[in-house]
Amino acid sequence: MTIRETAEKAGPTVLLTEATVHSATRLSPSYVRVELASPGFVDLGEEGFDTRFKVLLPGATGELLSLSEVAEEWYERWVSLPDDVRPPMRTYTIRDVVRDRGQVRLVVDFVVHEDDGAGAGHGLGPACRWALAAKPGDVVQVVAPHRATTYGGAEFDPDGRQHVLLIGDETAVPAIARIMEDLGPGCTGEVFLEVPSSEDIQDLPGRTGFSVTWCPRHKAAVGRRLVQDVRRHLGLPPSTEFEALADLPGDLDLDVWETPTYSAAGEDVEAQLHTHSVGHDLDDTYAWIAGESWMVKALRRSMVTELGVDRGQVAFMGYWREGVAMRG
Ligand SMILES: Cc1cc2nc3c(=O)[nH]c(=O)nc-3n(C[C@H](O)[C@H](O)[C@H](O)COP(=O)(O)OP(=O)(O)OC[C@H]3O[C@@H](n4cnc5c(N)ncnc54)[C@H](O)[C@@H]3O)c2cc1C
Repeated sequence: MTIRETAEKAGPTVLLTEATVHSATRLSPSYVRVELASPGFVDLGEEGFDTRFKVLLPGATGELLSLSEVAEEWYERWVSLPDDVRPPMRTYTIRDVVRDRGQVRLVVDFVVHEDDGAGAGHGLGPACRWALAAKPGDVVQVVAPHRATTYGGAEFDPDGRQHVLLIGDETAVPAIARIMEDLGPGCTGEVFLEVPSSEDIQDLPGRTGFSVTWCPRHKAAVGRRLVQDVRRHLGLPPSTEFEALADLPGDLDLDVWETPTYSAAGEDVEAQLHTHSVGHDLDDTYAWIAGESWMVKALRRSMVTELGVDRGQVAFMGYWREGVAMRG
């Protein structure tokens, strides 16, 4: 049986569809909210929380490429394209799904930022550029979970724990807002969010038993304020020993993605589970941490190395890296 036949028999595992901008709204200096519409979204299999999806943007020619009639082969097709032709692909979070008179729209909050000072948008990535210019009618391609498959692209899994610690920068605010919306009753937690400015602070769903701390960055370097605020919350002294982490060479895609079920660094996940019992009140806590990779690594060191938090209790995810463009 060929790949095509196998794929056709097994049924789609991913939804690959063209989507049109229904609306694009500037929420704040650092956020553009885009609603994408597509007839194909009736097959969207998102499961809420931090469900992620891929967006393929128009390539250098401004055109989208026909990827493949069988969705299963889309990635091989994309990878096989020459660099100067391959359309940029980036990962985003499904902030919300709007179902409106038979139409299904996917809502995504794009972080937009200034150029690096060299002018003319220098240093802006394709997704940031696209979001800054997005208008109704623009077309992109979306690769998202398909409702026919069990794996819905979410990482968040407290595994029955009733207390959560949610930590992220501006790229993780959409996921954290969605997690707070989708969490069941009886859950309590602390939330720490770093955003570029006070104007980027958003109204999160009000929940009893949750404290929310916004850390506007203003002129501070990315992640530094958040790391110190979270360390203070965990009863740890301020630390500057993490600065060296920023200089560590590394391939963004393999940078930091350490969860109770997966290790980008190839660590033996099974061997690390249930090996630590913290001597303080984090036992029933599930921690979800995402954003710029320096910040995520610094908090991983704080929680795993200094506090001995068990691997089964925490997910660390690098969503972007300062000065390094994503590859997909
Ligand atoms: C699972 C997952 C979910 C994500 N969800 C979201 C989401 O919902 N919303 C969102 O906005 N992002 C989200 N991101 C992050 C987003 O994919 C990256 O920020 C991506 O790098 C943006 O692509 P780009 O084309 O703009 O920049 P790239 O071409 O990747 O990078 C170009 C330059 O821009 C810099 N850069 C990239 N992102 C930022 C940023 N946020 N602030 C400042 N400088 C930046 C890079 O350091 C680099 O120097 C998510 C990432 C992952 C892995």
